[in-house]
Amino acid sequence: MLRRRNLRALLKKQSLLKKELFKLGPLLKGSLDLRAQVCGKFNCICHLKGKKHKILVLCVSLEKKFRQIYVPIRNYSIARTWSKNYQRAERIIDKLTLINVKILRTKEKS
Ligand SMILES: [Zn+2]
Repeated sequence: MLRRRNLRALLKKQSLLKKELFKLGPLLKGSLDLRAQVCGKFNCICHLKGKKHKILVLCVSLEKKFRQIYVPIRNYSIARTWSKNYQRAERIIDKLTLINVKILRTKEKS
């Protein structure tokens, strides 16, 4: 009986976490890196006055390859939100994995 009640509680938690996962907005894996650099125009302010340009780079491993992908800095806050969504998704997946293992260990033969 305890086992059945326990299983029901676990399935409920599993269901809530799955809903939370599906409700997340767009996901962006990797870390965002704000950098300052000089450009290729020698008459630019970055060369003349040393005022470097800010750039945004997404550092990410995709398909087993590490990549650094340029992202327009105007989209920094959107990228941060999507990145936080990804981090939240990872935490939810970790929790789901623990719950799913418990379910597998609780479940009787069907
Ligand atoms: Zn420049």
